[in-house]
Amino acid sequence: MAKYFDVIIVGAGPAGSLAALKLARAGLNVCLVERGQYPGAKNMFGGLLHNTPVLNEMLPDFWERAPLERHVYKKVLAFMTPESAVSLTFENENFEQPPYNGHTVFRPAFDSWLAAEAVREGALLLCDCTAEDIIKKDGRVAGVTVKGREGTLRGNIVIAADGVLSFMAEKAGLRKDFKAKNMGVGIKLLLGLPEATINERFHLVRDEGADISFVGTTGGMGGGGFLYTNRESISVGMVVHLDSLKASGKAPYEVLDELLQHPQVRKLVKGAVPLEYSAHLIPEGGFTAMPQVYTDGMMVAGDAAGLCYTNGINLEGINLSMTSGVLAAETAIKALEVGDYSARTLSLYKKKLDESFIIKDMKTFKNAAGMMHLERLSRTYPQVLAGILEKLYRVEGMPRSKLLRLARKEALKEVGLKNLIADGIKIGRALL
Ligand SMILES: Cc1cc2nc3c(=O)[nH]c(=O)nc-3n(C[C@H](O)[C@H](O)[C@H](O)COP(=O)(O)OP(=O)(O)OC[C@H]3O[C@@H](n4cnc5c(N)ncnc54)[C@H](O)[C@@H]3O)c2cc1C
Repeated sequence: MAKYFDVIIVGAGPAGSLAALKLARAGLNVCLVERGQYPGAKNMFGGLLHNTPVLNEMLPDFWERAPLERHVYKKVLAFMTPESAVSLTFENENFEQPPYNGHTVFRPAFDSWLAAEAVREGALLLCDCTAEDIIKKDGRVAGVTVKGREGTLRGNIVIAADGVLSFMAEKAGLRKDFKAKNMGVGIKLLLGLPEATINERFHLVRDEGADISFVGTTGGMGGGGFLYTNRESISVGMVVHLDSLKASGKAPYEVLDELLQHPQVRKLVKGAVPLEYSAHLIPEGGFTAMPQVYTDGMMVAGDAAGLCYTNGINLEGINLSMTSGVLAAETAIKALEVGDYSARTLSLYKKKLDESFIIKDMKTFKNAAGMMHLERLSRTYPQVLAGILEKLYRVEGMPRSKLLRLARKEALKEVGLKNLIADGIKIGRALL
């Protein structure tokens, strides 16, 4: 086996595999190192693969060939209190058109497929192979040491696509220790249900899918819940801030159990068979928590570079990962052309990221991470909404208030004027 490569990529997740595909197509000698027994073996997420332009450009027919579950046609945002749910449902016929806006997927199947596409184009994939450290030569990163295969792999450029905890970025001195406030914990339960029951219960036909976000189901912890429909199963879970979880003293499965016991969620999961329980960290610090993404001989892509964000409505990670992987690969191609792997040349990667939607969106929503820590967002405001609607709909033989007066009264009662103004400013800065 050749042990000298043009590019070594650590991590066969979406960022690493798409980078490998791009490099292999350019005819380069690329090695993709994965610690799992197969790509995706150690990976989990909520469930929505966003159909991002690079995926379409690199694999235009992916939606016909990839192992996808359902295309997401229905989006629901549900504000929950212990006894009620206020839901906003969005269904769009445009989301019915190929190549679709997004699909639910299982990571073991999707990640394996994506890595196989890179292998088909000539990339070398080494599974069961954990990168343990970086090798430096003349002050620049020039390879990695690995466990599970032969000891060292050397190359001109290393792309660290090794996920949220990125030991490679840490070893290269690109990131400091994590702060709990910048991390989320995702907990997911996969539940088996017959396809016909899913279609009937969620009002879907053929391979249409639903994506439901729950606000208010975290017992006051920062974060939210999710439910995605797969073909013959549903993925139910939640992402909570690591600092909130620690402060609550609860175990992740207890938090998930509370969501599953909610009366509205109970109806959605009724009769389902537990298939798999999983948990994973997620970088949630946003733009301000990003590490340095390049140094001499190395670039960092995807979650490893903190490229993931939520604004409470969207959770985007996989599309940012795939795009950053391709931008890192494009930079590597340029660097190899000129034979210069210095930080100065690799800074092109940062420039490309800055010019892409990735950094633009992360900057736009840079205040959302702080907003998501607002306890009242996940506890009090769903109660205010539900309180307003209950008063609107309940028939009690009492005179009714006009809508604005009713809303003001409920909000002031539950939140208070000072908090309302402070929260309004915080939410406004994050989203408006
Ligand atoms: C609960 C949860 C729900 C989510 N929901 C969504 C969602 O619905 N939509 C969305 O877009 N995003 C979602 N995300 C975020 C998304 O999963 C990530 O942004 C995405 O997986 C990042 O891809 P990546 O390739 O950068 O990293 P990863 O997918 O983490 O891949 C990293 C790879 O590197 C390998 N690896 C790690 N260390 C080493 C090493 N030392 N040597 C060799 N290999 C190594 C790992 O095994 C893994 O295969 C969610 C995340 C969580 C936790």
